[in-house]
Amino acid sequence: MTEHKSIAVDGPSGAGKSTLAKLLAKELGFLYVDTGAIYRTVGLKAYREGVDPEDGAAVTALLPGLNIELKYGGDGLQHMYLDGEDVTDAIRQHEISRYTSCVSAVPAVRDFLLERQRELARTHDVIMDGRDIGTVVLPRADVKIFLTASPEDRARRRYEELCQRGQETDYDTVLRDVIQRDEHDTRRAAAPLRQAEDALLVDTTGNSLEKSLGVLLDTIKERLHA
Ligand code: C5P
Repeated sequence: MTEHKSIAVDGPSGAGKSTLAKLLAKELGFLYVDTGAIYRTVGLKAYREGVDPEDGAAVTALLPGLNIELKYGGDGLQHMYLDGEDVTDAIRQHEISRYTSCVSAVPAVRDFLLERQRELARTHDVIMDGRDIGTVVLPRADVKIFLTASPEDRARRRYEELCQRGQETDYDTVLRDVIQRDEHDTRRAAAPLRQAEDALLVDTTGNSLEKSLGVLLDTIKERLHA
């Protein structure tokens, strides 16, 4: 059996993880796995079922009937399905971000999704982004990156992304939400957001996409061939 390569990219929201990981995956011929999208699908389920996302027992009770699928479309991109419906766009709604941050702090949710994430890495060369990939999901990843940027830079990226999707919001609200969500993700007991000891810290504050991509590509190639 061939050993597959894996690259873990963790960091707070809006650091550019998914944009960069997607481009890196294309460049390296790896599968891009957006684990935030998987957690978001659970958040969407709680939202649609009218479940309080902070009620761990109620969220846990959703799991046995949870029908989540991850498929790769002709575009090579990851699509999320909930109960047979393509929810790839629906999970990006602003309100779902808050729900997701709450449901992903529930240990049973993390246990439920752990093996699915690992299975993808066993069967493909992957670049996987999230919050606990280098620390919990793939502790033996070949390359680990911790991507960050100032809260203002991250909020600006999120704000622009939401505007592009036609969602009405304002920058100050997004900044406040980004800070709150990161605090929540960092302070939770179950698999909190933190930099793995052997992860390389990359701060993208003020960098263009091209510059960040160049830095990451050089580092990854060097580490993969070391
Ligand atoms: O990456 P994204 O912003 O889409 O993630 C949404 C939320 O999902 C995060 O705020 C975090 O609470 C949760 N998440 C997680 N572990 C991961 C990926 C995402 O807890 N590996």
